[in-house]
Amino acid sequence: MSERTRNYNYSRKTLTNNWEYRLKSLLRRCGSTRFAGSLVLVGLCSFLALLIFAYQPMAQTREQPSPSVAQAATTDSELSASPAVLPPLPYAYDALEPYIDAETMELHHDRHHATYVENFNEALANYPDLQNQTVEAMLRDLDNVPEDIREKVRNNGGGHVNHTMFWEIMSPDGGGEPTGAIAEAINQSFGSFAQFQEEFEQAGKDRFGSGWVWLVSNDANELEITTTPNQDTPIMDGQYPIMGNDVWEHAYYLNYRNNRGEYLSNWWNVVNWDEVNRRFEQAQS
Ligand code: MN
Repeated sequence: MSERTRNYNYSRKTLTNNWEYRLKSLLRRCGSTRFAGSLVLVGLCSFLALLIFAYQPMAQTREQPSPSVAQAATTDSELSASPAVLPPLPYAYDALEPYIDAETMELHHDRHHATYVENFNEALANYPDLQNQTVEAMLRDLDNVPEDIREKVRNNGGGHVNHTMFWEIMSPDGGGEPTGAIAEAINQSFGSFAQFQEEFEQAGKDRFGSGWVWLVSNDANELEITTTPNQDTPIMDGQYPIMGNDVWEHAYYLNYRNNRGEYLSNWWNVVNWDEVNRRFEQAQS
């Protein structure tokens, strides 16, 4: 074998070895690619199955009407706690001017009331069973609310119930003399509307610190003026709040400063007697 032929053979052999090597490594790669492919496929299938599984509760949730809409539409029913929802203000922020200014309304509804709702839901987060009750039912029977959240339910549940009523019993078309059955009942219980106004305003002025002044239907089914501290509601004492005015400073301070009396006497200009009558009927049923 000449030197040249040997070189040639050698080169061929190297070449052959090289091709074999390439083929083998390609096959090896094919094998591992197939394995990786199967892995990706299995992963994709699991992801799809998970997506379908997760979609079912999502679809169910979407079918339900928005709680805020449902609640706003039915003021007759008590307030849901699963979850509690901030009802929309039934009129524009500036609708009650000049008696209540727009900025006060915006802060009062969007911040104060919203925070009561938020904190109430937070308190109930670890007590799903409790969420089946209405907010009012919890307030009527606070002893049955777990002790570690009782104070939060009292303050924030009370704040939610009180303010939901408050927006409804005011209206840009409100004011004037009371109408309907409540007008008669006020005259019978207090002698005249003027007398009732005077006593209601005085009670509101005398309420020390933050709280509410109320016209309630009491245990004996009689009209009575009462006050409560903080966000306590007459519901806690088995009374029905027919109407109430918020005498927390956040309700009037921007416009009236420390003059709570002036706020109380101006407030009559926005009282929605139709809604007060509806609540009076509710109290008797
Ligand atoms: Mn308030």
